[in-house]
Amino acid sequence: MPGFELFGDKERKEVQDVMDSGVLMRYGFDAMRNGHWKTKELETALAKRMQVKYAHAVSSGTAALTVALASAGVGAGDEVIMPTFTFVASFESILALGAVPILADIDDTLTLKPEAVEKAISPRTKVIMPVHMCGSMANLDALKAICDQYGLLLLEDACQAIGGTYKGKPLGSIGDMGCFSFDYVKTITCGEGGAIITNNGTYYENAHKYADHGHDHIGNNRGAEEHPFLGYNFRISEMNSAVGVAQLSRLDEFLNIQKRNYSILREALSSIPEVVFRTVPNGGEENYSFLSYFLPSENLAQKAHQVLGDKGVDGCFYWYNNNWHYYKKWEHLTNMKSLGNLPKDVKEVLPDYNEADFSESDKWMSRNISCLIKLGWSEEEVKTRAKQMVDAIKAVL
Ligand SMILES: *Cc1c(COP(=O)(O)O)cnc(C)c1O
Repeated sequence: MPGFELFGDKERKEVQDVMDSGVLMRYGFDAMRNGHWKTKELETALAKRMQVKYAHAVSSGTAALTVALASAGVGAGDEVIMPTFTFVASFESILALGAVPILADIDDTLTLKPEAVEKAISPRTKVIMPVHMCGSMANLDALKAICDQYGLLLLEDACQAIGGTYKGKPLGSIGDMGCFSFDYVKTITCGEGGAIITNNGTYYENAHKYADHGHDHIGNNRGAEEHPFLGYNFRISEMNSAVGVAQLSRLDEFLNIQKRNYSILREALSSIPEVVFRTVPNGGEENYSFLSYFLPSENLAQKAHQVLGDKGVDGCFYWYNNNWHYYKKWEHLTNMKSLGNLPKDVKEVLPDYNEADFSESDKWMSRNISCLIKLGWSEEEVKTRAKQMVDAIKAVL
């Protein structure tokens, strides 16, 4: 998955443009910048690639989620439904606004289970946030129908799934808003960075202001700008955007390599009847950043993961035990360990996740192994890896 594997001349050229002008800030300094507006260029290219009207780049994927939620007016006491399997940024962004993360079960798509989402809805619910983990999506038609029925917003966390599609549309462009991360281990990277995409002009207007202290960005005198509402600083720098411009232009090249490598591994594992691949909803196409599959039991999955590790087959994850990605290890959330007091609304409403029943999620997660697809492998290396994987799984069956 990581774009850093193929970092090269294109990236160097874009960064050099920024170095030559010395303007590292995305706003202002018009006379100095030699016509270089790398962040604007990144936003224009991203909006075009994602077939949406607007894109706004920010400092990280976590910032993108926070800004997206804030732009839609999510605040203290509002509930956002998110999956039990995700990255910690999901609840961080929600809590940052004083809103309440409501966890819901996943299914064999490894993302939100629509029936579980519907059960989690309360009068305070404002947003459903599916997270397209490991390159693939939830049943987005079903989630959209729930949003329409209950008047909720759909915010897609597509941080791990850039380039994937659903019914022909880019992931991230299907909900009211979509978010991407360009951190160092994502499919394309800026070093650090992220973006929000939307077709909603109001959310876009709110997003660029909120991400820059509430500046209205009218005119070209920053000192004279008004502040229609409070904001924070989630700006991306021109250096990071320059890298992003180059990487985004290579997205299709990266996706093709991922797909080739994924297909070789998948075909090899298909020879084992006990291996069942993660479900991709009808009409969905993954971005092939991971190959995810289930083994028949928790015990077998743990053993296979152990053997893969012992054999030096790197990049295979057993997320069930992972600190960052599964709710069981989020003790800072479940025990509400905050440096300061959490807002009263959050304290009063946050469910006791130590007591919650997520056995449906456990059922899938405990049997799942996900293998990272790298871009730098030669075809020979992928084939060797395929054989090692098959041997490792067969050894424990
Ligand atoms: C990486 C990631 C994020 C956060 O992105 P950062 O740029 O690292 O802040 C959010 N959600 C998911 C699913 C991610 O994988």
